Formats: sequence, structure tokens, C-alpha cells
Amino acid sequence: MGNDNFQYLLRRYPSDPLYPEVEKIRGSYVYTTDRRKFLDLTAGYSACVSIGGSNLKVRSAIKKQMRKYSYVSAVSWSNSRAAELAELLVRKAPLGLDRVMFPGCSGSEAIEAAMRMSYQVRFEQGEIDRSVFITRSNAYHGITSLALSLTSTPVYGFLKPLQPTNHVSIPQHNFFEQSLAGESQDDYALRSAKQLEDQIIATGPEKITAFVAESMLGSLQGNVPPSGNYWKLVREICDRYEIHIILDEVYCGLGRSGKVYCCEWDGITPDFVAQGKQLAGGFGPISAVVTKSRFEEIIKAGQNRIFYATTYEAHPLAVAAAIEVQKVVQSSEMLAHVNLIGEMIKQRLTDGLGTHEFFKNVRGRGALVTIEYQCDDQEKFNERLQAEMRDQHGVLIGSRFHRTNFNPPSTTSYRQVERAVDQYVELFEKIGLDFSRTSI
Ligand code: PMP
Repeated sequence: MGNDNFQYLLRRYPSDPLYPEVEKIRGSYVYTTDRRKFLDLTAGYSACVSIGGSNLKVRSAIKKQMRKYSYVSAVSWSNSRAAELAELLVRKAPLGLDRVMFPGCSGSEAIEAAMRMSYQVRFEQGEIDRSVFITRSNAYHGITSLALSLTSTPVYGFLKPLQPTNHVSIPQHNFFEQSLAGESQDDYALRSAKQLEDQIIATGPEKITAFVAESMLGSLQGNVPPSGNYWKLVREICDRYEIHIILDEVYCGLGRSGKVYCCEWDGITPDFVAQGKQLAGGFGPISAVVTKSRFEEIIKAGQNRIFYATTYEAHPLAVAAAIEVQKVVQSSEMLAHVNLIGEMIKQRLTDGLGTHEFFKNVRGRGALVTIEYQCDDQEKFNERLQAEMRDQHGVLIGSRFHRTNFNPPSTTSYRQVERAVDQYVELFEKIGLDFSRTSI
């Protein structure tokens, strides 16, 4: 029985009306207590419910684990299931990534742990001045101190006095925002990578520990894949100056991009990869840092302890869920389905809206697809798109800022997605008649 008395609950937006309550989730469908049903093309708002919300194998794995025990501390006890999950993640990782740590419940903790470990490796090697991180503008890497210090998102600006200052920023890597008139993807990739090298030289390589970035610009900017050989060029530059690459795949990793690791598309081996949201597909809170045994050896020869610890690291229930989720997302059938529906979304959006006066572009990888547009009063346009898709068609989409994101869970059939995209195109055109385009 629910409780109608919400006064003791501190909500993120205290003045918002109460949100509807969910009764149950089945596959890609969300059922609310007021008897409504929605097809969730946001995969749980932020693309974490990657295999739908009711997978029976995952549920039974959690129950099985619960019958044995729910929690033991990773400090005192071994958990062979955590080892099994690590092996699953290593098996599909780019060659050279062969160690996995489960630092806690959130993507933020994975980024925080990777940043700290990067610096600890420097410390153990006597390079204590290598403490600066390079970030890109308009990034979001999490809410913990170091992770948040990398963001330039204006809403968090007031927290600046509380944040570490050991970072420098280069422009975001976003062909749609940053390329010059007539510049090709390849030329832009070169220029964008050069911005990194220029910054390294300006700061002094001997002061820098790592470059932190998403493999593909994520939900904030709306699924912008890297241009040309960008990551190969970045890898070469970072190797030249011995700078670690920390890839943030909290949003784009573990199957959502159409490959298990998003950076597989780019053919590089980073030094650390942070995974989060989709690791247990929303069935349990858990995140991971995938890294190299070389760093483990350096730490072993130094203080012989990784200085990162949280109570719920490698939580056994989340580990049990994540093993089953990873078995699904790593299957070739699943990846093929993700790629197929993603390509279809891109095609249908381009065919349906490519000549619309608001249209700017369509992009993405796998099941992470974005359409970007521009019109007068974008916020109202988004509100109407979202509300009318929800209320008229029972479909949840992520329309915010300059774009709509489509992130269907893999339980969504080709036909379901196709229908929803067609409904979206129709609504876009209808609502569009009430708005006009601003001059760019
Ligand atoms: N990195 C990226 C790219 C993200 O999108 C997010 C979450 N939106 C995070 C890190 C932080 O993850 P979490 O919210 O689980 O801490």
C-alpha cells in the first residue's frame, strides 16, 4: 500500500507537482497506478534500462543470490560472481584492458575512481606533479567532487568554490557545433585533436595525468559520434606525452552503441573505461572501472593498496543482476537488433523530417539516436512534443534543449519503434506549424 503523505520526502524539484507513480514494468512498457501504459523510448529516462525492466533470468538470478546472502563486504570476503562479471567485461574489452574494479553504485563513482587511480599510478611512479586532468567543454561526468569539477554545465556553476581546480578544458568534440564551413569530418578530427595537443603543451605534459572524455558525446549533447579518426589521433597524442585516456562510457557503453564497448567503433585501447548505467540494466546499482594489469603492478610495487573504497562496492545482488544483463547485451543477436533499430530510426527521421525547416541533423550509434532541430521557443516545442507523444500515443521520449533522444530498450520490437517514430514525425510536423524558425 502506497503512502500519500509526501511531505517528508525531500524532492529534487520541491515545487514540482507530484509525478505519477509506476505500478509495474513489463519489457519496454511502464504501467502507472492511474492505469496508464507507456512505451518507454528513454530506457528509464537516461538509457539505463537497456534490456527492458522485467527480464526473468535477471530476476531469478537476484532471487537466487538473495537466498544465499544479500550482502558481504568486498573488504573481507571473496565473491566469485564478481570475478565472473569481471571476466565477462574483460572478454569483450579492447585488447590490453584486463582488470576490472567495481567501485560502487554509480557512474560518478566509476569516473571518480578512475581519476584517482590514474593519479595514484603517477604517485607510485614518483610523478606527483602529474595531477591535472584535461576535460572538454559541455561535458558531464558525474556528481562527485572530481567528476563534477570536469563539467562546465552552467547550472552547477554556483558549486565552483567547493570543487577541485586541477583541470583544464578544451572545446567539445562535436562536428555539428564546432566544425568550420566546408570542413570535412577528417579535417575537423585533425583540428580537434590538435586542440588537445596544444593544451597539453600549454599546460605542460609533466603536469597532466589524464584526458577524460566520453567515447561518444552523450545525452547532454545528444549522441554525437566522434569524427573520422579522432580517437586514434588522440591516442597517438596521449602516447606521445604519456597521458592516460579515461573514457566515460557510463552513458554510451555496454551494448547501447551497437557494440559492447562504444570505443570498439574507434579502434583504440584507452587506459581506463568507466561503465555504469547499463551494467546491471537498472536491476541493481553498480558501476565499473575497466583498466590495465600494468597499473595494478605499479600500485602493488608501491603502496600495495588502491585508495578507493565504498561500502557497497561489488554489491552481490547487483553483481548477480549484472552477470545476466551482460550475457544478454553481449550476444550477437542483441547487438544486431540494437544496430538495426538504430539505423531504422535514423533513416525514418531523415526521410520524414530531413527537409523540415526546423531540421538540423540526425546522428547516433546503435540504439542511441538523436534528432537536432531549431525553432522559436525550443523549450515549449520540446514540452509539447513530449507531452503529446505521451498523452496521444503513450510513448515516452527525451525531448530537451535542442534535440530529441531515442533510446529504445532492446526489448522493443522493430515494429513498435517504427510506429513510434512515425507518430513522432507526424506530431513534429503538426506542432511545428505553431512555431517558427529562428535565424541561425
Ligand atoms: N557520465 C556520463 C556520461 C553520464 O551521462 C552520467 C549520468 N548521467 C554520469 C557519468 C554519472 O553517472 P551517475 O548518475 O550514475 O552517477
